[in-house]
Amino acid sequence: MRKYYRIARPGRWYGGICAADCVGCNLKCLFCWSNFPRDHPESTGKFYTPAQVYSALKECALSHGYDRIRVSGNEPTIGRRHLLELLELVEVDGKLYFILETNGILIGYDKSYARDLSRYSRLHVRVSIKACNEEEFHRITGAKPEAFKLQLNALRNLLDYNVSFHPAIMVSFCSDESLRNLIEVLAEIDSRLPSLLEPEYVILYPHVVERLRRAGIKPRISYTP
Ligand code: SF4
Repeated sequence: MRKYYRIARPGRWYGGICAADCVGCNLKCLFCWSNFPRDHPESTGKFYTPAQVYSALKECALSHGYDRIRVSGNEPTIGRRHLLELLELVEVDGKLYFILETNGILIGYDKSYARDLSRYSRLHVRVSIKACNEEEFHRITGAKPEAFKLQLNALRNLLDYNVSFHPAIMVSFCSDESLRNLIEVLAEIDSRLPSLLEPEYVILYPHVVERLRRAGIKPRISYTP
């Protein structure tokens, strides 16, 4: 079982998709819109089995005419067995596609996670890289600077196991130079990656604005909700 604070909600992302919002993350991004469940896992949400989550997501997707589902909110790769069982249900049922939105930390840390994901044909992974270099990563996520490399390792591991994926980068807090350098690094990992890159921008929800203000950090580019 894994804790979720909401199952399931429809949304317009990806041309229409239903999401279940899980509880818990291994980063602490200043721009996170879902910080309450992340910081209070003990008092947020309820535990669900993979079958319960799949059933709710499928019902939501079919009733809205969507063929895509995802786990959002916090970090879906935490609770590996739960996620793999959920992906197994998607695969066996063969009716829907699953978009795995992840910060990539665990896939970069343990290559066998990418191997396990490679078993699923109805899966696409979106690795959301949180900053453009180690220093910016540390400032934005609160994690050790060297953990930035794990996000890049996730891309390498997914490539090695031929998993369908693309990288996204939160560019709101990158300098021009750090973004340029990161794109060069991506090209060194695989020449196709720069063209697959999806830029992400911070959305200025009031609680996000307040957190960034307290940290003294200003986004270079942002959107209002
Ligand atoms: S990785 Fe995602 S869920 Fe985790 S803190 Fe950052 S934005 Fe929030």
